[in-house]
Amino acid sequence: MSANPVTPNMNADLFIDGAWVRGNAGNRPNVDPGDGSTVGAVSMADFDQVQAAIAAASKAFPAWSTMLASSRGEILKTAARLLEHRLDEAAATILLETGKTQADARGEILRSIQTLAWNGEHAGRVQGTIFPGIAPGSTRRSTPTPLGVVAAITAWNFPAVLITRKLGAALAAGCTVVLKASDFCPATARLIMDVLIDAGLPAGVVNLVFGDSAAVSEQILAAPEVKALTFTGSTAVGKRLAELAAPNLIRPVMELGGHAPVIVWEDADIEHVIATTAPAKFGSAGQSCVAPSRYFVHESLYRDFVEALVKKAESYTLGHGNEEGTTMGAVAHQGRIDALAHLVQDARDKGATVEAGGETLDRPGFYFQPTVLSDVPAEADIMTEEPFGPLCAVVPFSDLDDAITQANAAPYSFAAYLFTDTISVRNTVVAKLNASNIGVNQTAPSLPDVPLGGLGNSGYGYEGGLEGILAFTQLRLVSETAHA
Ligand code: NAD
Repeated sequence: MSANPVTPNMNADLFIDGAWVRGNAGNRPNVDPGDGSTVGAVSMADFDQVQAAIAAASKAFPAWSTMLASSRGEILKTAARLLEHRLDEAAATILLETGKTQADARGEILRSIQTLAWNGEHAGRVQGTIFPGIAPGSTRRSTPTPLGVVAAITAWNFPAVLITRKLGAALAAGCTVVLKASDFCPATARLIMDVLIDAGLPAGVVNLVFGDSAAVSEQILAAPEVKALTFTGSTAVGKRLAELAAPNLIRPVMELGGHAPVIVWEDADIEHVIATTAPAKFGSAGQSCVAPSRYFVHESLYRDFVEALVKKAESYTLGHGNEEGTTMGAVAHQGRIDALAHLVQDARDKGATVEAGGETLDRPGFYFQPTVLSDVPAEADIMTEEPFGPLCAVVPFSDLDDAITQANAAPYSFAAYLFTDTISVRNTVVAKLNASNIGVNQTAPSLPDVPLGGLGNSGYGYEGGLEGILAFTQLRLVSETAHA
């Protein structure tokens, strides 16, 4: 293993009402998926500590929500600069608790810095509208007003981006937060809290807890102080959280699973398609909600395409992110390996061919080879179940409408890709594809300046852009006449 000059702190406690505290419900190990070793410990909250976190966020809300919006923004922008100063340490932290490569880990921190900075810059730009009055001398003002305490619950696959997106938008809007971060990546959450605290975040504005996920979520969403929920994670957990939010009419933003199709039309350049989509498929070991998972390829290109994709898949060097030459890292845990192995076996049983990969690696840690399945029948589970790993299916088509129907057959609706220079094909696919984030001849990254959200099993609501900040506000209408 090459020497990494930074030795990050891989432990995490709870942060409640401006203080780091040990969890009263014991510790869980923080495991490096790259070799299976324990690299730190995460502190688990008990009921009273979760209650204290909610109370602290509620107590901090009046002052935070009435602070000058641009001053709130300054704290986010300062946090962005501090994170930039700690880039090496932050990347080393993510690498150790996610199994990512150095490049993926650094890329994620850079995106998180942009996210904090963008939301900081735009905190002071949340504007209302003035409407004409309904009587002489009267006016009407519609003003976005922060909702209150936000519950933020995040997944492990992009631990820094997901946390900074949620905190950036909620804090810019003037809300306070109880953050239940994934206990697979606690040290990344701790480090982001560190930079916010160093940037001057007042006590109680963000409170970080870890704990029994189901119990903690249930407790937070039962609290009358909590007015909004922002969740990124699996569709199954998202549906459960939506049920928990409903009785208190907690306003949800749900960023859930994805199963991106790629339609490759007959005029596409195979090398361009592969060079463009492979980083999205095999980066972060395929554990991304926008990862291309189902390639529908025009029959005239099909065999050449499969061959080229196999060559690309076999070009990756699997290993620990700290090993020289690693181009693909580990998956998060054994559960991911089991799910991927099941999808491969099921596809094989139903007639698909395993063209590349399909196996785990015989070494400590959680590794699954970049895997390409061809001639996959529609009834194989991989065609409708999110693989969330370095696994993709390739299917030939001759008729465009048929390809679109197959692409739309998965219950998700988030990212989708099309490769063609034919305008009529572009127009047809963009109009008919059931997707909310479409890349034409390119990928479709989620950047801080644009609103993005899923449909169907991919969720609802938006993150990013001013819409992402406005998600945590309510428009209040004030109709005024000058004379009493
Ligand atoms: P997950 O749903 O298992 O966990 C997400 C969060 O919910 C974690 O904090 C976890 O501790 C918590 N949680 C887990 N089980 C829970 C339960 N029963 N009740 C309440 N909370 C619970 O998801 P994951 O495995 O961490 O992440 C992978 C999923 O996230 C994939 O489906 C992926 O597509 C999705 N994702 C979506 C986006 C997006 O922007 N749409 C981005 C990243 C990841």
